[in-house]
Amino acid sequence: MKKDCVYTDGSYRFDFSTLLELLVKRGRSKRVELYIEAPQGFVRLLRHISDFLSECLASKGYEATVHIKLEPVFGACALSIDELKYIGKNVFLIHLGHDPYIYPICTGGTCYHSSLPNVVFVPGEYVGGSVEEIVENLRELLGASKRLAIGYSVQHRMLSHSVAEALSRNGYDIRLVAPVLGCYYYNLVKYRDVVDAFIVIAGGYFHSLGLGLALGGEKTVLRADPYSNKVENIGDKVLHVLSKRYWALSLLSSAKSLGIIIGLLPGQYRPWIASFIEALARRRGIKTYKLYARYLSREVLDNLSPSDYDAFVVTSCPRLAIDDLGDYWKPVLTPAEARLWLTDALGKYGYTFPW
Ligand code: SF4
Repeated sequence: MKKDCVYTDGSYRFDFSTLLELLVKRGRSKRVELYIEAPQGFVRLLRHISDFLSECLASKGYEATVHIKLEPVFGACALSIDELKYIGKNVFLIHLGHDPYIYPICTGGTCYHSSLPNVVFVPGEYVGGSVEEIVENLRELLGASKRLAIGYSVQHRMLSHSVAEALSRNGYDIRLVAPVLGCYYYNLVKYRDVVDAFIVIAGGYFHSLGLGLALGGEKTVLRADPYSNKVENIGDKVLHVLSKRYWALSLLSSAKSLGIIIGLLPGQYRPWIASFIEALARRRGIKTYKLYARYLSREVLDNLSPSDYDAFVVTSCPRLAIDDLGDYWKPVLTPAEARLWLTDALGKYGYTFPW
């Protein structure tokens, strides 16, 4: 069978060859049911992708029924695996916009550390971006920094490798080119002592800012925007966020009660982190409460009685503490911040993010 189910809208390319491979492995049945979901920016494409998949699979002899998830899915951590039980048995979940999640996915009382059998990840590759322009702009800001590591959000894999190759041809020493998530930077951070600067190729500040925090603001992070080809040093932005985080940490000296928030999305359920924080807090005589939420927001916290909790720690998505609740009127911490606070380690080790 030819593996050529590739959809493009002109800006992004979605390659469904993994689905075809799974169907071939599955064997005789020619009926296929798909539940297809995507993050915010791609939801508008789902109707067209649904048509495309039906036609492409028909050309291979399959009869496909496609169910479209209307609500956006913001990460592989929010995989709609639990919803398959409504759609039916043997349904493939097609998740657009992300690679498989790096952390465990928990469903039905079991946490999976490897990929789930009926789930197909189709990240979507951005086909724009000018390698020449990005490299020229990078060279202007890199100065004497020659040893580099490059992180990228998954849509920009090809562009990032092309930028890395072009930089190598220009005499730069590229130590690593690797994907990042808003909650995962370890692959890059471990290169902190052997590179002069980090580059993040991603739209917006979400990924580059996270890397800046993970590095404690101690290394140069350049953000290269694949949509405008512009490059900037985000040092000031990282320091601004860091100062807000230190301020939140400074409010904790008299905290006596801590709400530990546990996520109920499949990739955000991390009870082991919650238990770890709970044990640290109890050692300090701080009363803890485990609070469960599928979606955490300011409104959800506002429902609580003001005097019941002195602070919160979010074990679901660490970015909630930084991006959404960074200016909440009570300290809302990431797990790493809670650990630094509860072990008096901030002065010893400096800031860490996210765990
Ligand atoms: S940063 Fe938050 S939303 Fe993104 S993958 Fe991690 S937990 Fe999910």
